Amino acid sequence: MQELLYHSTRDTSLTATASQAILRGIAPDGGLYVPDRIPTLRKSFDELSMMSYPEVAYEVLRLFLTDFSDEEVRAAVNAAYNTENFDRDDITCLMKANGAYYLELFHGRTIAFKDMALSILPHLMSISAKKNNLKEKIVILTATSGDTGKAALEGFANVPGTGIVVFYPKDGVSTFQERQMLTQEGDNTHVIGIRGNFDDAQREVKKIFTDEAFAAKMKSAGYVFSSANSINIGRLIPQIAYYVYAYTRLMEDEITFVVPTGNFGNILAAYYAAKMGVPVSKLICASNDNKVLFDFFESGVYDRNRDFILTSSPSMDILISSNLERLIYEIAGDKTADLMSSLAGSGKYSVKDLAGKSAEDGDGPLDMFRGEYATEQEMQEEIRHVYKDCGYVLDPHTAVASASYRKYLADTRDLTPAVIASTASPYKFSASVLRAIEGDSFREGTDKELIERLSKLSGVEIPAAVDRALNGTIRHNTVCDPADMEKEIEKIFL
Ligand SMILES: *Cc1c(COP(=O)(O)O)cnc(C)c1O
Repeated sequence: MQELLYHSTRDTSLTATASQAILRGIAPDGGLYVPDRIPTLRKSFDELSMMSYPEVAYEVLRLFLTDFSDEEVRAAVNAAYNTENFDRDDITCLMKANGAYYLELFHGRTIAFKDMALSILPHLMSISAKKNNLKEKIVILTATSGDTGKAALEGFANVPGTGIVVFYPKDGVSTFQERQMLTQEGDNTHVIGIRGNFDDAQREVKKIFTDEAFAAKMKSAGYVFSSANSINIGRLIPQIAYYVYAYTRLMEDEITFVVPTGNFGNILAAYYAAKMGVPVSKLICASNDNKVLFDFFESGVYDRNRDFILTSSPSMDILISSNLERLIYEIAGDKTADLMSSLAGSGKYSVKDLAGKSAEDGDGPLDMFRGEYATEQEMQEEIRHVYKDCGYVLDPHTAVASASYRKYLADTRDLTPAVIASTASPYKFSASVLRAIEGDSFREGTDKELIERLSKLSGVEIPAAVDRALNGTIRHNTVCDPADMEKEIEKIFL
Protein backbone atom coordinates (compact mmCIF):
# COMPACT_ATOMS: atom_id res chain seq x y z
CA MET A 1 0.00 0.00 0.00
CA GLN A 2 1.24 3.47 -0.86
CA GLU A 3 2.59 5.18 2.24
CA LEU A 4 0.44 7.96 3.66
CA LEU A 5 2.28 10.72 5.50
CA TYR A 6 0.93 13.44 7.75
CA HIS A 7 1.93 17.09 7.98
CA SER A 8 1.23 20.07 10.18
CA THR A 9 -1.70 22.36 9.28
CA ARG A 10 0.69 25.27 9.84
CA ASP A 11 3.76 24.04 7.97
CA THR A 12 3.62 21.34 5.27
CA SER A 13 7.34 20.63 5.69
CA LEU A 14 6.74 19.23 9.20
CA THR A 15 5.85 15.66 8.31
CA ALA A 16 5.33 12.47 10.29
CA THR A 17 4.36 8.88 9.74
CA ALA A 18 1.06 7.79 11.26
CA SER A 19 2.80 6.23 14.26
CA GLN A 20 4.93 9.33 14.86
CA ALA A 21 1.87 11.57 14.64
CA ILE A 22 0.07 9.35 17.17
CA LEU A 23 3.00 9.48 19.60
CA ARG A 24 3.45 13.24 19.28
CA GLY A 25 -0.24 14.17 19.36
CA ILE A 26 0.42 17.72 18.20
CA ALA A 27 2.93 18.91 15.56
CA PRO A 28 6.09 20.65 16.84
CA ASP A 29 4.83 24.07 15.66
CA GLY A 30 1.53 23.73 17.51
CA GLY A 31 -0.34 22.77 14.32
CA LEU A 32 -2.48 19.67 13.90
CA TYR A 33 -1.40 16.69 11.85
CA VAL A 34 -3.47 16.10 8.70
CA PRO A 35 -3.02 13.32 6.14
CA ASP A 36 -1.38 14.32 2.82
CA ARG A 37 -4.51 12.96 1.11
CA ILE A 38 -7.69 11.24 2.27
CA PRO A 39 -7.64 7.65 1.02
CA THR A 40 -10.73 6.29 -0.72
CA LEU A 41 -12.40 3.10 0.47
CA ARG A 42 -11.01 -0.05 -1.17
CA LYS A 43 -14.00 -2.30 -0.54
CA SER A 44 -17.40 -1.79 -2.16
CA PHE A 45 -20.32 -0.72 0.00
CA ASP A 46 -21.93 -4.10 -0.71
CA GLU A 47 -18.91 -5.84 0.74
CA LEU A 48 -18.70 -3.46 3.71
CA SER A 49 -22.40 -3.90 4.42
CA MET A 50 -21.77 -7.60 5.14
CA MET A 51 -19.01 -6.84 7.65
CA SER A 52 -19.12 -6.50 11.43
CA TYR A 53 -18.07 -3.28 13.15
CA PRO A 54 -14.49 -4.44 13.88
CA GLU A 55 -14.11 -5.52 10.25
CA VAL A 56 -15.27 -2.16 8.93
CA ALA A 57 -13.00 -0.38 11.41
CA TYR A 58 -10.09 -2.48 10.18
CA GLU A 59 -10.82 -1.56 6.54
CA VAL A 60 -10.84 2.14 7.40
CA LEU A 61 -7.87 2.20 9.75
CA ARG A 62 -5.48 0.29 7.53
CA LEU A 63 -5.85 2.94 4.82
CA PHE A 64 -4.70 5.66 7.22
CA LEU A 65 -2.13 3.75 9.29
CA THR A 66 0.14 2.71 6.45
CA ASP A 67 3.21 2.18 8.62
CA PHE A 68 1.30 -0.38 10.70
CA SER A 69 1.21 -3.97 9.47
CA ASP A 70 -2.21 -5.49 8.76
CA GLU A 71 -1.70 -7.70 11.82
CA GLU A 72 -1.02 -4.68 14.02
CA VAL A 73 -4.15 -2.87 12.85
CA ARG A 74 -6.19 -6.01 13.36
CA ALA A 75 -4.76 -6.57 16.85
CA ALA A 76 -5.59 -3.00 17.92
CA VAL A 77 -9.12 -3.23 16.49
CA ASN A 78 -9.78 -6.54 18.21
CA ALA A 79 -8.37 -5.35 21.53
CA ALA A 80 -10.74 -2.37 21.43
CA TYR A 81 -14.03 -3.46 19.88
CA ASN A 82 -15.10 -6.49 21.86
CA THR A 83 -17.76 -7.38 24.43
CA GLU A 84 -15.36 -6.78 27.29
CA ASN A 85 -15.37 -3.08 26.38
CA PHE A 86 -18.85 -2.71 24.86
CA ASP A 87 -22.21 -3.84 26.11
CA ARG A 88 -23.53 -4.73 22.64
CA ASP A 89 -22.16 -7.47 20.39
CA ASP A 90 -22.49 -5.15 17.41
CA ILE A 91 -20.61 -2.29 19.24
CA THR A 92 -22.92 0.40 17.83
CA CYS A 93 -26.41 0.39 16.34
CA LEU A 94 -28.98 2.53 14.55
CA MET A 95 -32.30 3.15 16.27
CA LYS A 96 -35.14 4.60 14.25
CA ALA A 97 -37.29 7.10 16.13
CA ASN A 98 -39.31 10.11 15.15
CA GLY A 99 -38.34 10.02 11.48
CA ALA A 100 -34.57 9.86 11.95
CA TYR A 101 -31.91 7.29 12.77
CA TYR A 102 -29.98 7.59 16.01
CA LEU A 103 -26.49 6.11 15.82
CA GLU A 104 -25.91 4.94 19.38
CA LEU A 105 -22.22 5.47 20.06
CA PHE A 106 -22.53 5.07 23.82
CA HIS A 107 -22.20 1.36 24.47
CA GLY A 108 -18.61 1.50 25.71
CA ARG A 109 -17.22 1.47 29.23
CA THR A 110 -18.07 5.09 30.07
CA ILE A 111 -21.35 5.17 28.11
CA ALA A 112 -20.31 8.10 25.91
CA PHE A 113 -19.00 8.25 22.35
CA LYS A 114 -15.42 9.05 23.40
CA ASP A 115 -15.06 5.34 24.19
CA MET A 116 -15.21 4.62 20.44
CA ALA A 117 -11.80 6.27 20.04
CA LEU A 118 -10.29 5.99 23.52
CA SER A 119 -10.72 2.23 23.61
CA ILE A 120 -8.36 1.87 20.64
CA LEU A 121 -5.95 4.81 21.05
CA PRO A 122 -3.90 3.17 23.84
CA HIS A 123 -3.27 0.14 21.63
CA LEU A 124 -2.33 2.32 18.66
CA MET A 125 0.07 4.18 20.97
CA SER A 126 1.76 1.12 22.36
CA ILE A 127 2.24 -0.29 18.84
CA SER A 128 3.56 3.13 17.71
CA ALA A 129 6.02 3.15 20.62
CA LYS A 130 7.46 -0.22 19.61
CA LYS A 131 7.63 0.81 15.97
CA ASN A 132 9.65 3.92 16.84
CA ASN A 133 11.92 2.06 19.27
CA LEU A 134 10.70 4.05 22.20
CA LYS A 135 12.32 2.44 25.24
CA GLU A 136 10.36 4.40 27.82
CA LYS A 137 6.89 3.77 29.18
CA ILE A 138 4.28 6.27 28.04
CA VAL A 139 2.63 8.26 30.82
CA ILE A 140 -0.60 9.98 29.80
CA LEU A 141 -1.33 13.21 31.68
CA THR A 142 -4.85 14.60 31.50
CA ALA A 143 -6.79 17.38 33.15
CA THR A 144 -10.49 16.64 32.97
CA SER A 145 -13.75 18.38 33.66
CA GLY A 146 -15.28 14.93 34.08
CA ASP A 147 -15.91 12.83 31.00
CA THR A 148 -12.74 12.65 28.94
CA GLY A 149 -10.65 11.70 31.95
CA LYS A 150 -12.81 8.71 32.72
CA ALA A 151 -12.88 7.54 29.10
CA ALA A 152 -9.07 7.84 28.95
CA LEU A 153 -8.71 5.92 32.25
CA GLU A 154 -10.83 3.07 30.93
CA GLY A 155 -8.92 3.04 27.65
CA PHE A 156 -5.44 2.95 29.17
CA ALA A 157 -6.22 0.71 32.18
CA ASN A 158 -3.80 -2.24 32.14
CA VAL A 159 -2.50 -1.53 28.62
CA PRO A 160 1.15 -2.70 28.73
CA GLY A 161 3.80 -0.01 28.41
CA THR A 162 1.46 2.80 29.48
CA GLY A 163 0.36 4.62 32.62
CA ILE A 164 -2.18 7.38 33.12
CA VAL A 165 -2.62 10.20 35.63
CA VAL A 166 -5.88 12.14 35.61
CA PHE A 167 -6.36 15.40 37.51
CA TYR A 168 -9.87 16.65 38.14
CA PRO A 169 -11.28 19.62 40.09
CA LYS A 170 -12.30 18.10 43.44
CA ASP A 171 -15.47 20.17 43.70
CA GLY A 172 -16.00 20.75 39.99
CA VAL A 173 -17.44 17.46 38.74
CA SER A 174 -20.73 15.73 39.51
CA THR A 175 -20.83 13.16 42.32
CA PHE A 176 -21.50 10.48 39.72
CA GLN A 177 -18.54 11.53 37.57
CA GLU A 178 -16.32 11.55 40.65
CA ARG A 179 -17.42 8.07 41.65
CA GLN A 180 -16.81 6.87 38.10
CA MET A 181 -13.21 8.02 38.33
CA LEU A 182 -12.46 7.05 41.93
CA THR A 183 -13.64 3.47 41.34
CA GLN A 184 -11.35 3.10 38.33
CA GLU A 185 -9.54 -0.23 38.23
CA GLY A 186 -6.15 -1.02 36.67
CA ASP A 187 -2.66 -1.05 38.21
CA ASN A 188 -1.44 1.73 35.90
CA THR A 189 -4.25 4.24 36.61
CA HIS A 190 -3.96 7.24 38.96
CA VAL A 191 -6.71 9.73 39.77
CA ILE A 192 -5.97 12.90 41.73
CA GLY A 193 -8.42 15.54 42.89
CA ILE A 194 -7.12 19.09 43.03
CA ARG A 195 -8.23 21.98 45.22
CA GLY A 196 -9.02 24.30 42.34
CA ASN A 197 -11.07 24.46 39.16
CA PHE A 198 -10.62 22.81 35.77
CA ASP A 199 -8.59 25.72 34.40
CA ASP A 200 -6.10 25.38 37.29
CA ALA A 201 -5.70 21.70 36.52
CA GLN A 202 -5.35 22.35 32.79
CA ARG A 203 -2.81 25.12 33.26
CA GLU A 204 -0.62 23.00 35.57
CA VAL A 205 -0.74 20.02 33.21
CA LYS A 206 0.43 22.27 30.36
CA LYS A 207 3.23 23.54 32.60
CA ILE A 208 4.33 20.02 33.45
CA PHE A 209 4.33 19.12 29.74
CA THR A 210 6.77 21.96 29.00
CA ASP A 211 9.03 21.50 32.07
CA GLU A 212 12.16 20.14 30.38
CA ALA A 213 14.06 19.45 33.58
CA PHE A 214 11.18 17.34 34.84
CA ALA A 215 10.91 15.54 31.50
CA ALA A 216 14.62 14.67 31.73
CA LYS A 217 14.17 13.31 35.26
CA MET A 218 11.23 11.19 34.13
CA LYS A 219 13.14 9.97 31.09
CA SER A 220 16.07 8.75 33.16
CA ALA A 221 13.55 6.83 35.25
CA GLY A 222 12.15 5.30 32.04
CA TYR A 223 9.06 7.40 31.31
CA VAL A 224 7.89 9.88 28.66
CA PHE A 225 4.76 12.01 28.83
CA SER A 226 2.08 12.00 26.18
CA SER A 227 -1.50 13.22 25.89
CA ALA A 228 -4.69 11.62 24.72
CA ASN A 229 -6.65 14.69 23.71
CA SER A 230 -8.99 14.91 20.79
CA ILE A 231 -6.57 16.50 18.34
CA ASN A 232 -4.54 13.27 18.18
CA ILE A 233 -5.10 11.58 14.81
CA GLY A 234 -5.23 8.33 16.79
CA ARG A 235 -8.57 9.53 18.10
CA LEU A 236 -9.84 11.08 14.89
CA ILE A 237 -9.28 8.17 12.49
CA PRO A 238 -11.16 5.50 14.50
CA GLN A 239 -14.18 7.83 14.53
CA ILE A 240 -14.40 7.74 10.73
CA ALA A 241 -15.22 4.04 10.93
CA TYR A 242 -18.65 4.46 12.49
CA TYR A 243 -19.82 6.84 9.78
CA VAL A 244 -18.82 4.31 7.13
CA TYR A 245 -20.47 1.58 9.19
CA ALA A 246 -23.69 3.59 9.64
CA TYR A 247 -23.95 4.25 5.92
CA THR A 248 -23.46 0.58 5.05
CA ARG A 249 -26.29 -0.43 7.41
CA LEU A 250 -28.68 1.87 5.51
CA MET A 251 -27.37 1.86 1.94
CA GLU A 252 -29.53 4.83 0.91
CA ASP A 253 -28.61 6.96 -2.12
CA GLU A 254 -27.38 9.70 0.16
CA ILE A 255 -27.48 10.48 3.86
CA THR A 256 -27.18 13.48 6.11
CA PHE A 257 -25.27 13.28 9.38
CA VAL A 258 -26.24 15.44 12.32
CA VAL A 259 -23.52 15.76 14.95
CA PRO A 260 -23.65 17.42 18.39
CA THR A 261 -20.41 19.35 18.29
CA GLY A 262 -17.91 20.71 20.79
CA ASN A 263 -14.29 20.37 19.76
CA PHE A 264 -15.28 19.56 16.14
CA GLY A 265 -13.61 16.13 16.26
CA ASN A 266 -16.67 13.98 15.78
CA ILE A 267 -18.09 15.93 12.83
CA LEU A 268 -14.68 16.22 11.19
CA ALA A 269 -14.55 12.42 11.17
CA ALA A 270 -17.89 12.46 9.29
CA TYR A 271 -16.37 14.87 6.77
CA TYR A 272 -13.38 12.56 6.27
CA ALA A 273 -15.81 9.65 5.77
CA ALA A 274 -17.47 11.69 3.01
CA LYS A 275 -14.09 12.29 1.40
CA MET A 276 -13.41 8.55 1.54
CA GLY A 277 -16.50 8.02 -0.60
CA VAL A 278 -19.53 7.82 1.69
CA PRO A 279 -22.36 9.62 -0.15
CA VAL A 280 -23.05 12.41 2.31
CA SER A 281 -25.60 15.05 1.42
CA LYS A 282 -25.13 17.44 4.37
CA LEU A 283 -23.21 17.57 7.62
CA ILE A 284 -25.28 19.39 10.20
CA CYS A 285 -23.08 20.84 12.90
CA ALA A 286 -25.27 21.18 16.00
CA SER A 287 -24.34 23.56 18.83
CA ASN A 288 -25.93 24.43 22.14
CA ASP A 289 -26.17 28.02 23.42
CA ASN A 290 -22.40 28.33 22.92
CA LYS A 291 -23.08 28.67 19.21
CA VAL A 292 -19.73 29.94 17.99
CA LEU A 293 -19.75 27.31 15.22
CA PHE A 294 -23.28 28.16 14.09
CA ASP A 295 -22.21 31.79 13.73
CA PHE A 296 -19.09 30.70 11.87
CA PHE A 297 -21.00 28.69 9.28
CA GLU A 298 -23.49 31.54 8.87
CA SER A 299 -21.03 34.39 8.56
CA GLY A 300 -17.57 33.00 7.77
CA VAL A 301 -16.27 34.70 10.90
CA TYR A 302 -15.04 32.72 13.89
CA ASP A 303 -15.29 34.85 17.01
CA ARG A 304 -14.72 33.49 20.47
CA ASN A 305 -15.26 36.87 22.14
CA ARG A 306 -18.52 36.12 23.89
CA ASP A 307 -19.83 34.88 27.22
CA PHE A 308 -19.24 31.27 28.06
CA ILE A 309 -22.62 29.71 28.87
CA LEU A 310 -22.98 26.71 31.17
CA THR A 311 -25.57 24.33 29.72
CA SER A 312 -26.92 20.84 30.40
CA SER A 313 -24.80 19.55 27.50
CA PRO A 314 -21.43 20.33 29.13
CA SER A 315 -19.27 18.47 26.61
CA MET A 316 -20.40 21.03 24.01
CA ASP A 317 -19.65 24.06 26.20
CA ILE A 318 -16.61 25.06 24.18
CA LEU A 319 -15.59 28.36 22.58
CA ILE A 320 -12.43 27.17 20.84
CA SER A 321 -13.13 24.11 18.72
CA SER A 322 -9.57 22.88 18.18
CA ASN A 323 -10.30 20.40 15.41
CA LEU A 324 -11.88 23.08 13.22
CA GLU A 325 -8.29 23.98 12.30
CA ARG A 326 -8.19 20.88 10.12
CA LEU A 327 -11.21 22.06 8.09
CA ILE A 328 -9.85 25.59 7.95
CA TYR A 329 -6.68 24.15 6.48
CA GLU A 330 -8.70 22.78 3.55
CA ILE A 331 -9.84 26.26 2.59
CA ALA A 332 -6.96 28.38 3.83
CA GLY A 333 -3.93 26.19 3.08
CA ASP A 334 -0.74 28.06 3.95
CA LYS A 335 -2.75 30.92 5.47
CA THR A 336 -3.88 28.63 8.33
CA ALA A 337 -1.02 29.61 10.64
CA ASP A 338 -1.95 33.31 10.27
CA LEU A 339 -5.61 32.65 11.00
CA MET A 340 -4.72 30.63 14.08
CA SER A 341 -2.41 33.29 15.42
CA SER A 342 -5.21 35.78 14.90
CA LEU A 343 -7.46 33.48 16.95
CA ALA A 344 -4.84 33.31 19.69
CA GLY A 345 -4.46 37.11 19.63
CA SER A 346 -7.74 38.88 18.96
CA GLY A 347 -9.89 35.80 19.48
CA LYS A 348 -11.23 35.80 15.94
CA TYR A 349 -10.58 35.32 12.24
CA SER A 350 -12.51 35.44 8.99
CA VAL A 351 -12.54 33.02 6.06
CA LYS A 352 -15.09 35.04 4.07
CA ASP A 353 -12.75 35.79 1.15
CA LEU A 354 -11.24 32.32 1.14
CA ALA A 355 -14.52 30.45 1.47
CA GLY A 356 -16.05 32.53 -1.31
CA LYS A 357 -13.27 31.60 -3.66
CA SER A 358 -13.30 27.87 -2.99
CA ALA A 359 -17.06 27.69 -3.14
CA GLU A 360 -17.81 29.45 -6.41
CA ASP A 361 -19.29 26.28 -7.83
CA GLY A 362 -21.05 25.38 -4.58
CA ASP A 363 -18.85 22.43 -3.71
CA GLY A 364 -16.15 23.96 -1.54
CA PRO A 365 -15.36 22.19 1.75
CA LEU A 366 -17.69 24.51 3.67
CA ASP A 367 -20.68 23.87 1.41
CA MET A 368 -21.28 20.42 2.81
CA PHE A 369 -21.69 21.90 6.29
CA ARG A 370 -24.69 23.56 7.78
CA GLY A 371 -24.66 25.11 11.26
CA GLU A 372 -27.71 24.76 13.52
CA TYR A 373 -28.19 25.16 17.23
CA ALA A 374 -30.69 24.45 19.98
CA THR A 375 -31.24 26.48 23.11
CA GLU A 376 -31.52 24.88 26.53
CA GLN A 377 -35.30 25.07 26.28
CA GLU A 378 -35.40 23.58 22.76
CA MET A 379 -33.17 20.76 23.99
CA GLN A 380 -35.53 20.00 26.88
CA GLU A 381 -38.60 20.12 24.63
CA GLU A 382 -36.89 17.70 22.25
CA ILE A 383 -36.23 15.16 25.01
CA ARG A 384 -39.83 15.40 26.18
CA HIS A 385 -41.33 15.27 22.72
CA VAL A 386 -39.30 12.30 21.42
CA TYR A 387 -40.06 10.43 24.63
CA LYS A 388 -43.82 11.17 24.42
CA ASP A 389 -44.02 10.25 20.72
CA CYS A 390 -41.79 7.19 20.59
CA GLY A 391 -40.77 6.23 24.13
CA TYR A 392 -37.14 6.78 23.10
CA VAL A 393 -35.00 8.69 25.60
CA LEU A 394 -32.25 11.07 24.45
CA ASP A 395 -29.40 12.49 26.50
CA PRO A 396 -29.03 16.32 26.41
CA HIS A 397 -26.18 16.29 23.84
CA THR A 398 -28.05 14.06 21.43
CA ALA A 399 -31.18 16.13 22.05
CA VAL A 400 -29.33 19.29 20.95
CA ALA A 401 -28.55 17.51 17.67
CA SER A 402 -32.06 16.15 17.33
CA ALA A 403 -33.66 19.57 17.92
CA SER A 404 -31.19 21.14 15.49
CA TYR A 405 -32.20 18.61 12.86
CA ARG A 406 -35.86 19.44 13.43
CA LYS A 407 -35.14 23.13 12.84
CA TYR A 408 -33.22 22.25 9.68
CA LEU A 409 -36.15 20.14 8.44
CA ALA A 410 -38.65 22.92 9.11
CA ASP A 411 -36.41 25.29 7.18
CA THR A 412 -35.49 23.17 4.18
CA ARG A 413 -37.95 20.25 3.96
CA ASP A 414 -34.92 18.22 2.91
CA LEU A 415 -36.09 14.61 3.13
CA THR A 416 -32.68 12.98 2.75
CA PRO A 417 -32.47 10.20 5.39
CA ALA A 418 -30.69 11.55 8.44
CA VAL A 419 -28.42 9.87 10.98
CA ILE A 420 -28.03 11.66 14.29
CA ALA A 421 -24.85 10.88 16.21
CA SER A 422 -26.05 9.83 19.64
CA THR A 423 -23.11 10.68 21.86
CA ALA A 424 -24.10 9.75 25.40
CA SER A 425 -26.40 7.42 27.24
CA PRO A 426 -29.25 9.24 29.00
CA TYR A 427 -28.07 7.48 32.19
CA LYS A 428 -25.02 9.70 32.19
CA PHE A 429 -27.27 12.73 32.68
CA SER A 430 -30.22 11.26 34.56
CA ALA A 431 -31.19 14.45 36.40
CA SER A 432 -31.28 16.65 33.27
CA VAL A 433 -33.20 14.02 31.33
CA LEU A 434 -35.78 13.45 34.07
CA ARG A 435 -36.18 17.21 34.53
CA ALA A 436 -36.95 17.55 30.82
CA ILE A 437 -39.47 14.72 30.80
CA GLU A 438 -41.16 15.29 34.16
CA GLY A 439 -41.28 19.09 33.94
CA ASP A 440 -42.77 20.70 37.04
CA SER A 441 -43.24 17.40 38.83
CA PHE A 442 -39.48 16.74 38.77
CA ARG A 443 -37.86 16.28 42.18
CA GLU A 444 -34.17 15.78 43.00
CA GLY A 445 -32.79 12.52 44.40
CA THR A 446 -29.54 10.64 44.88
CA ASP A 447 -27.74 9.37 41.78
CA LYS A 448 -29.06 5.90 42.50
CA GLU A 449 -32.68 7.05 42.87
CA LEU A 450 -32.56 9.13 39.70
CA ILE A 451 -31.05 6.28 37.72
CA GLU A 452 -33.70 3.86 38.93
CA ARG A 453 -36.45 6.33 38.07
CA LEU A 454 -35.03 6.76 34.58
CA SER A 455 -34.83 3.01 34.15
CA LYS A 456 -38.54 2.61 35.03
CA LEU A 457 -39.51 5.36 32.68
CA SER A 458 -37.37 4.33 29.70
CA GLY A 459 -37.48 0.57 30.08
CA VAL A 460 -33.78 0.51 29.12
CA GLU A 461 -31.64 -1.77 31.23
CA ILE A 462 -29.18 0.05 33.52
CA PRO A 463 -25.75 -0.30 31.85
CA ALA A 464 -22.97 -2.19 33.62
CA ALA A 465 -20.88 1.00 33.60
CA VAL A 466 -23.47 2.67 35.83
CA ASP A 467 -23.49 -0.29 38.22
CA ARG A 468 -19.70 -0.24 38.41
CA ALA A 469 -19.71 3.44 39.36
CA LEU A 470 -22.54 3.16 41.88
CA ASN A 471 -21.34 -0.01 43.57
CA GLY A 472 -17.59 -0.18 42.86
CA THR A 473 -14.90 0.16 45.54
CA ILE A 474 -13.22 3.55 45.88
CA ARG A 475 -9.61 2.93 44.83
CA HIS A 476 -8.20 6.46 44.59
CA ASN A 477 -8.10 9.08 47.31
CA THR A 478 -5.27 11.55 46.65
CA VAL A 479 -6.11 15.26 46.81
CA CYS A 480 -3.56 18.05 46.31
CA ASP A 481 -3.10 21.74 45.59
CA PRO A 482 -2.51 22.66 41.93
CA ALA A 483 1.03 23.75 42.80
CA ASP A 484 1.83 20.22 44.03
CA MET A 485 0.69 18.26 40.97
CA GLU A 486 4.24 17.69 39.77
CA LYS A 487 5.24 16.41 43.22
CA GLU A 488 2.38 13.91 43.13
CA ILE A 489 3.60 12.61 39.77
CA GLU A 490 7.10 12.24 41.26
CA LYS A 491 5.66 10.24 44.15
CA ILE A 492 4.07 7.83 41.71
CA PHE A 493 6.92 7.30 39.25
CA LEU A 494 10.26 8.40 40.76
C1 LIG B 1 -17.12 15.19 23.59
C2 LIG B 1 -18.60 15.12 23.42
C3 LIG B 1 -19.27 15.82 22.39
C4 LIG B 1 -18.55 16.73 21.42
O1 LIG B 1 -17.72 16.03 20.53
P1 LIG B 1 -16.56 16.80 19.74
O2 LIG B 1 -15.79 15.75 19.05
O3 LIG B 1 -15.75 17.51 20.81
O4 LIG B 1 -17.20 17.77 18.82
C5 LIG B 1 -20.65 15.66 22.26
N1 LIG B 1 -21.34 14.89 23.12
C6 LIG B 1 -20.75 14.22 24.13
C7 LIG B 1 -21.59 13.40 25.04
C8 LIG B 1 -19.36 14.29 24.32
O5 LIG B 1 -18.79 13.62 25.32
